[in-house]
Amino acid sequence: MKDTLHMNTMLIGLLGHPIKQTYSPFIYNMAFDINKLDFIYLPFDVPASNLRNAIKGIIALGIAGFNVTIPHKVNIMQLLNNVSEDAAVVGAVNTVVNDQGKLSGYNSDVYGILKSLEKYKNVLIGQEMTVLGAGGGARAVVYTLIRYFKPAKINLINRTEQKAEALKTYFSEKMKFDDFKCYELFPPNLVEILQNSKLIVNATPVGMFPESDDAIISIEKSFHKEQIVFDLVYNPTKTKLINIAAKQGADVINGLPMLVNQASKSFELWTGETMPVESITRSLELFIGH
Ligand code: NAP
Repeated sequence: MKDTLHMNTMLIGLLGHPIKQTYSPFIYNMAFDINKLDFIYLPFDVPASNLRNAIKGIIALGIAGFNVTIPHKVNIMQLLNNVSEDAAVVGAVNTVVNDQGKLSGYNSDVYGILKSLEKYKNVLIGQEMTVLGAGGGARAVVYTLIRYFKPAKINLINRTEQKAEALKTYFSEKMKFDDFKCYELFPPNLVEILQNSKLIVNATPVGMFPESDDAIISIEKSFHKEQIVFDLVYNPTKTKLINIAAKQGADVINGLPMLVNQASKSFELWTGETMPVESITRSLELFIGH
């Protein structure tokens, strides 16, 4: 962490409410240090009713940029001058650049997801895929899959089936993709759906610390060795789902590459520099510690 602040130290903020445990200050402040950039990253607890005022303050103070998290990812869009194509179609912004009072919004989660799946791109294209969850993370995943992996079919499984249906309707309209099948957790044919899926993504918080003994799927023979299982949860780094899927032979990806790579895209937007992704990932693994 920075020990000296200067007249021209650049501030980057995180706006959310409530600001729960976040690794963002750890990631960015370390990256600023490594790259010897005179920047500092600070979280601000901003309730929804105060977002507009917070944005006015950011412009007045010349704050260089900021991340937004729950509950601002959608509402921020109406306060921006520009929104990137990815962010507009996903329907959420998580990164904003302030260029002398002109605010541009981006969704760096899409890049984080794409980088996490990069090495599997060729085997995933055109395949059947399953996404568990229908919240903000699932929305970015579904967009990325449709846009970059041209799935044969996406199974959307969610605790509240109407939310899966709403996601389906949204993307059918926005992206002209209709090959969705929606289910409520847990459909009777769950194992069959999973077995037929080349990629299975957990976009629910199930298994997240401190409920690390939970797994959204813990049934025998759900996974096999021709599959990729991607768990968005990054704390713990080896979730119970990751352990079960690996034991059943699947290739597994945890939430860390998404977390660090989405941060690297935001870092680049604010600083114009490349974030040291590998050393940040190693430090984060040590910091999370399990
Ligand atoms: P969110 O918008 O609140 O959505 C949560 C989703 O999970 C909803 O669909 C919800 O179902 C479902 N859910 C919640 N609790 C559940 C439970 N006990 N059993 C079954 N389903 C449950 O959250 P989010 O932002 O998408 O985040 C989801 C997870 O992804 C979190 O663990 C988050 O840390 C992780 N994430 C990681 C990254 C990364 O960079 N690696 C990025 C984004 C998110 P209902 O619709 O029924 O409420």
